[in-house]
Order: sequence, then structure tokens, then C-alpha cells
Amino acid sequence: MTGLEKETDAGEGCPVILPRSQHPISRKHINEHTLKVLYRLRNHGFKAYLVGGGVRDLLLGRRPKDFDVATDATPGQVRKLFRNCFLVGRRFRLAHIRFAGNYIVEVATFRRQPRPEELPENPAEHFFFTENVFGSPREDAFRRDFTINGLFYNIDDFSVVDHVGGLEDLEARRLRVIGDPLVRFTEDPVRMLRALEFKARLGFSLDAGIREAIYLRGPLIAEAAPARIREEVMELFRHAVAGPVFRQAQAMGLLPHLLAGYEANEETLAMLAGVDQRTANDAAIEEHLVLAALFLSRFRNALKSDGETSIGEALHLANLLLTPMCAYFRIAHGTRARARDLLIGFFRLSRGRGRRGEARFLRHSSSPQALEFFALWCEVFQQQLDVLADWRQAFAAGESSSTAGSKSKGRRPRRRRSGRRKPRKPAPKSE
Ligand code: ATP
Ligand code: MG
Repeated sequence: MTGLEKETDAGEGCPVILPRSQHPISRKHINEHTLKVLYRLRNHGFKAYLVGGGVRDLLLGRRPKDFDVATDATPGQVRKLFRNCFLVGRRFRLAHIRFAGNYIVEVATFRRQPRPEELPENPAEHFFFTENVFGSPREDAFRRDFTINGLFYNIDDFSVVDHVGGLEDLEARRLRVIGDPLVRFTEDPVRMLRALEFKARLGFSLDAGIREAIYLRGPLIAEAAPARIREEVMELFRHAVAGPVFRQAQAMGLLPHLLAGYEANEETLAMLAGVDQRTANDAAIEEHLVLAALFLSRFRNALKSDGETSIGEALHLANLLLTPMCAYFRIAHGTRARARDLLIGFFRLSRGRGRRGEARFLRHSSSPQALEFFALWCEVFQQQLDVLADWRQAFAAGESSSTAGSKSKGRRPRRRRSGRRKPRKPAPKSE
């Protein structure tokens, strides 16, 4: 394949160009491998820009999560330039350039919106087709989602190039869709969720057009590929904004369309805010914890009010709650089982100490995580804190006795059950 044709204007108008002296982006803030890639492309006669969230975050004085590069070199041309380059993506062809320490720089060729007559007949193929038509830098800026995500940093003269009015919106701390929100949300409904995500992450306001379009186009998100939704929802948790985004999505009627009919009550929203707090304090977020947090309130409400639900019944309830969503998002059985362990662990812990099977529960490999989950709930709602303190003591005692030479090595000893034999009183040491 040859290089792409020279830049042609996507529409009227010229970009706003901020020279180096008028913006705060310094090469010191850009990852060294990314800089190497930009320079090499430029030195071989290609255009090379830093694009997307990296430019946005640097302009806001935030630390970017990652840096993306866009160029007029085709994926094949990029591969020829870098020894350590792999083309990835069956549908969206990207070049991944790998560096030591498993650092990957992602390089995309400028894309454009296809003209209506170019689109395939099957509307289901539109999204991926749209993602793969090469274009000019200006066209590439216009196919992006929000104006603040459409800014470029040009390695050739270190200027910031704004084709879409993103600088003005950054200044006004406003999230605005590039083009007509109704059209752009219809084209890709996942952008509605991204709008709520960026609003929460950056503390920006939503442009009125976005609000209206979410109310009007919300149901379309149910048609997005579940794998994409699953990934974007996990992004919310990784960025510790699940609480506010779920609250807003619920208020705007988007949530049930997003998550296969799911609705969040106040207790769940508060729990999600607790999960966010935990992530903001650097705890890793895993999908089974997300699932357990989403269904905890319903699980608690479904338990018998007299406190006499058996473990078997609790297991059954947890499965009934988790299975439909896990099936919809094709979540692995192992993840579902771990989410169920958290709910069952919560159930055991909330009943307090002194029940049958306690010693075994204390030794089980999933129990420390269940304790952490229970602790999160206790702290969010300021409930059962005395019960929590009791359990913490029991776990600490179990740990010190096992490090002192327990022969169980963390595995449950296999014993036959022979009728009732557990005392009702706590047994702080493992047998
Ligand atoms: P961050 O990486 O900090 O979450 P980001 O803006 O870089 O934020 P990415 O998901 O990494 O988000 O996407 C990179 C860029 O690709 C975006 O800034 C945007 O320009 C463009 N983009 C991503 N998703 C879409 C989409 N659904 N529609 C249009 N453009 C998109
Ligand atoms: Mg990014």
C-alpha cells in the first residue's frame, strides 16, 4: 500500500494552532518510548501526532493514563519502520510497538467518517466499517467522540492543533460532542456512557445537547456489543467513578438499557461509591468484586427476615441473582463463582461468630476477601462494626496459629461429616 493522499479538508475552516509558547505541554511529560515513535515517524516523512486522552490530560495538568499516536503512515508502513511492531485487531487495524518492560505504544492511521453511500448494507457492520476508513488528520479529528478528545499535539513543531473547538471547551470545562449528539449517539451508543464517564472523571459539565440526546437515544445502548459495554463499565470502576456514573445513568434512564435490565437502588449506589473510594486508595479492582457489589443489596433483601436462611438457600439466591448478568456478558464461571463466594462470605460474616463450620470458613482461601468486602459494607453504612471487629480478631488469631505451624497449609482437611458436632461457641484457633 502506498502512503495516504495529502490532507484534504473535512469541511470548511482551519484549525486553531497553539504554538509551543502558548500551551503547557512539555516533552518531559510524554513517555520516552512514545516520543521515540513520534520522532521516527516524523523523520521518515510521515505526520505524527499525539492524540486523544493524552493531549487532553496534559493540557489539564493531569497525568495521562496512556498515550496514543496517530499518523498518515498506513499500518503496513508503520510495521516496516519498527522492528518491534505487531499489527493487531482483526477489524480495527492498529500497530502496536513494543518496548522493554512490556510497554506498548499504539499507533493508528488517521481515519475518517465514511460517506453514507460507502457504508455496507448491513447496519450491524457500520460501526466497524466506520472505524477503518483512512482519512486526513482533520477528518480524523472529526470522527472522534468529544471535542476535548479531538486535540492533537504535533511532534513536528510541538504545537497543539485544534480542528474541533476542543480548546474552548477545555477552558469552559464542558463536554461537547463533535457534531450532532443525536447522530453520533445513534452511530455508536457507547458514547453515551463515555460522556457520563468523562463528566465524572474530569468534573466537567454536560453540554445541553448531550443530556437531551441521552434521554432520546438511551435505549439504543442495549444494542451495543456486550463485550464493549463490559469493558467500558470496568473502565468506570478502574477510574473510581462507578458511583457517580451509575447514579447519573440511573437518573437519566440509561442504566437498565446498559446492563440488561439492571436498576440500582440507593444502597447499591452508596456501596459503589465505597468501592470507588477503595480503588482511589490504590486497591486493585476485580470483576467479581464489581458483580458482588452490584448485587449485594438485592441479595441482602432476598434473605429471610428472621435470619434463618440456610447456607444452601443463600447459595441458591446468589446464583439466581448473578447468573443472568453473567450469561449476558459471557462472564466466566470462575468469576461468577468468586462473586458468589463474596456474597456467601458476606452472609456468613453478617450472622456473627459461633456458627457451625466457622473454623473451616476461617481457613478457606476466599474468606479474607469476603472479610474485606464485608468490612467495606460495614464502613460505608456504619453498621455491624462490632461484628466486624470480632471477625477481624478471629482471622488474625487464625493467621498467627497457622504461621506457628498448622499442618493444614491453607487447604481444608477432608473429613466426613458425622452429624452435629460443632460447638456453638467460637473456636478461635484452627484445629
Ligand atoms: P482514557 O484513555 O484516559 O480513558 P481516552 O480519551 O484516551 O481516555 P480511549 O478510550 O483511550 O479514551 O480512546 C482514545 C481516543 O479515541 C479518544 O480520546 C477519542 O478521541 C477516540 N475514541 C475512543 N472511543 C471512541 C468512540 N466510541 N467514538 C469516537 N471516538 C472514540
Ligand atoms: Mg487513552
